[in-house]
Amino acid sequence: ILIEDIIEGCAKIKTAGKVFYNPVQEFNRDLSILVLRVFSKYFIAEKNSSKRVKGPTSYSDSENFINLPEKGIRLENGISILEALSATGLRSIRYGKEISGIKQIIANDISLKAVEDIKRNIENNNISNIVIPNHDDATMLMYKHRKENRFDVIDLDPYGCPSIFLDSAVQAITDGGLLLVTATDMAVLAGNSPETCYTKYGSISLRIKCCHEMAVRILLQCIESHANRYSRYIVPLLSISADFYVRVFVRVYTGAHKCKFTTSKLSNVYHCTGCDSFTLQPLGILKNQGENTNPIKFGLPAVPSVPQKCEHCSGTQHMGGPIWSAPLHSLDFVQKLLENMSNDLGTFRRIEGILRVISEELNDVPLYYALEKLSGTLHVETPPMLSIRSAVLNAGYRVSYTHMNKTSIKTDAPAKIVWDIMRSW
Ligand code: SAM
Repeated sequence: ILIEDIIEGCAKIKTAGKVFYNPVQEFNRDLSILVLRVFSKYFIAEKNSSKRVKGPTSYSDSENFINLPEKGIRLENGISILEALSATGLRSIRYGKEISGIKQIIANDISLKAVEDIKRNIENNNISNIVIPNHDDATMLMYKHRKENRFDVIDLDPYGCPSIFLDSAVQAITDGGLLLVTATDMAVLAGNSPETCYTKYGSISLRIKCCHEMAVRILLQCIESHANRYSRYIVPLLSISADFYVRVFVRVYTGAHKCKFTTSKLSNVYHCTGCDSFTLQPLGILKNQGENTNPIKFGLPAVPSVPQKCEHCSGTQHMGGPIWSAPLHSLDFVQKLLENMSNDLGTFRRIEGILRVISEELNDVPLYYALEKLSGTLHVETPPMLSIRSAVLNAGYRVSYTHMNKTSIKTDAPAKIVWDIMRSW
């Protein structure tokens, strides 16, 4: 028995009912369509230009990751996409119908029932010229493509944790290609089970108020570490926390030398369980800045030791991480997404709202402070957001909202300044 037609975007699908379909993920699919519309346009232009696809030379130029003319020349064949975990095929069908410049999309699933749905839905949507159904274990399929016929785009949208798919995915993607990854195991990533987080992601999560950003950064460091094994590295274009999941969009580049910069993009986090303040300790630092920037060649210089007791409240400190502590987004790319925003996407208002907040986020400042937690610790009423923002600005520091939590602030002010402001309220 097929359940009724499900209409989303330009796709109309049916499912036998046992195959995964989650209407709440429409936002995730809409956002991915917008990202791929913009990415494919510029990626095709890059491929057609004589320049070799190169990642940014230092983190400061990740903002200008694409310096190509507005209008790319279309590649004769367009880009190739693998949706490795496709369920009903809805996402692939939407990509095929709503994004131009696509050569081929493989809609793969390990479940036979799902592949039956995918085949039927492709036919009913008249999209068999672009979307090809495939029945395989996603990891095996990606390993088969790690040397030849790599994909320009790979989309991983699993139940829960994506880590078992990362080793093959980072190898099966073309140089400069785009990897889209969802993780829905928020309990693990947000500190409920730090040991499990270490086994799955190679990082210890923390029960900290800014756990959503920790989650995004744990996922990014995990993808980077998989990429590094094959002399590859990532450049995040957009990293989102929404509803019950995180979703990251990263470019994957090749370059053994650039991989030496990885330690300078990672940090451990010391977190006070009493007042929720945090301190970052980078795993590596860069020698010089500018043209001759190099990762250090010797071990880490002594870092200021972090006391076991918090200097603000004498609470106990816990160590988490390592997390990705480099930028979460390419603001240049976010700007292009905003310019290409289109109301044919059902959730475009929500997308636009989130992207506007992101475009103003302090992209070089990891993590954030939750105001209610700060005021709870001091037993005072939570001050209005605007007042806190102006106090931080008046003290000479930068401050912004974060799309991950409405009542939080990102700031480059040291924790001591934030506490002083809160105490003097
Ligand atoms: N991307 C889909 C969407 O937007 O509607 C939803 C995908 S659903 C969350 C996850 C799918 O992954 C399920 O259909 C499941 O059968 C499939 N799956 C799980 N393990 C797999 C594997 N090793 N290889 C391929 N597919 C797998």
